[in-house]
Amino acid sequence: MKIGAPKETYEGEARVAMTPASAKDLQKLGHDCLVQSGAGLKAGFTDDAYRAADVTVVDDAAALFAQADIIAKVRPPSDAEVALLRDDQTLISFFYPGQNAELLAAANAQGATVVAMDMVPRISRAQKMDALSSMANIAGYRAVIEAGSNFGRFFTGQVTAAGKVPPAKVLVVGAGVAGLAAIGTATSLGAITYAFDVRPEVAEQVESMGAEFVFLDFNEEQTDGSATGGYAAVSSPEFTAAQLKKFREIAPDMDIVITTALIPGRDAPELWTKDMVDAMKPGSVIIDLAAERGGNCKLTVKDEKIVTENGVTIVGYTDFPSRMATQASLLYATNVRHMVSDLTPGKDGVIDHNMDDDVIRGATATHEGEVTFPPPKPKIA
Ligand code: NAD
Repeated sequence: MKIGAPKETYEGEARVAMTPASAKDLQKLGHDCLVQSGAGLKAGFTDDAYRAADVTVVDDAAALFAQADIIAKVRPPSDAEVALLRDDQTLISFFYPGQNAELLAAANAQGATVVAMDMVPRISRAQKMDALSSMANIAGYRAVIEAGSNFGRFFTGQVTAAGKVPPAKVLVVGAGVAGLAAIGTATSLGAITYAFDVRPEVAEQVESMGAEFVFLDFNEEQTDGSATGGYAAVSSPEFTAAQLKKFREIAPDMDIVITTALIPGRDAPELWTKDMVDAMKPGSVIIDLAAERGGNCKLTVKDEKIVTENGVTIVGYTDFPSRMATQASLLYATNVRHMVSDLTPGKDGVIDHNMDDDVIRGATATHEGEVTFPPPKPKIA
């Protein structure tokens, strides 16, 4: 089969779904690879680098869509891209079928198979295809870098001839994949790092990464927001009140706050209120990784950086992985390559779209003219 990666059309998107290295691996599965000219440039991969990896470089998206059997993309397709899909074609990309009903219907009307990378089940066997985690890891790391570039002091404490410098204090709210990456990055830069999550089982992970878990003064066990499957549930009003009380206490002492708290299928919970921002010191920084879903901080403006009247910088960017496009493309392209590997069990360039396979079934949103989203629950863990 021919696998083609077009240039991303979403404004500002710098990632690419195929790298020269992933193309080499795809070829080992018996596939030929195509890339649209310039598709990898913003991520640091030139047309010549692709040619050196035996990838055919084609001039434009229309030619690429016409020639490829499988289209590998990062962002969900635009309407114009959906219109180029055919009934003998498979699209592999982030798709968010639960939030993109019209796009899903349009892709299905074209007869194309859609493999949504955001729908890969989070089971052990599928970790190598878990692009959400790959990107969340980058977002967490980059959030700390972004905080550092907006913060006027060191992260680490120092004793110098010119004076003693205290370490920065960083609070990470939400210790999922992005939060743990942020904790690891902040502690490695020498900050004193605190973290909070509604799931008490992450306290051990937080502490093993060198951060202090923030416990609440809550008379029941700190389990209120914990739900099955490793994800959070909506907290009770009493629990939220205890959480906000604790945040109010520590806000004046925090230099950097990184919020990552999300609940599947819902708007981001509002956890960092205006009075907490008002209580922070001038020069403090908030990075709100939940900005896409409304933000954990009341004052966050999506895709913007603002500075409040009391001098607190609040960053609401939603494109952190794209801001590290080389790393993000390397990891995402590897996730896609693993997906193609599972779709090519014979390593003979022949796609076997096995709907009895939990991982393939889970990620498939349309197939053979039918919408197959939502999938049934995976049978194995
Ligand atoms: P997520 O992005 O859905 O949420 C981020 C974090 O916010 C979560 O840790 C959540 O508990 C927390 N949160 C929600 N409400 C909060 C609140 N009010 N206050 C503070 N924190 C709040 O989470 P994620 O990064 O996608 O990870 C979710 C779970 O899935 C984790 O347990 C993770 O280890 C697990 N996971 C498993 C696999 C796998 O098995 N293959 C892969 C990735 C993640």
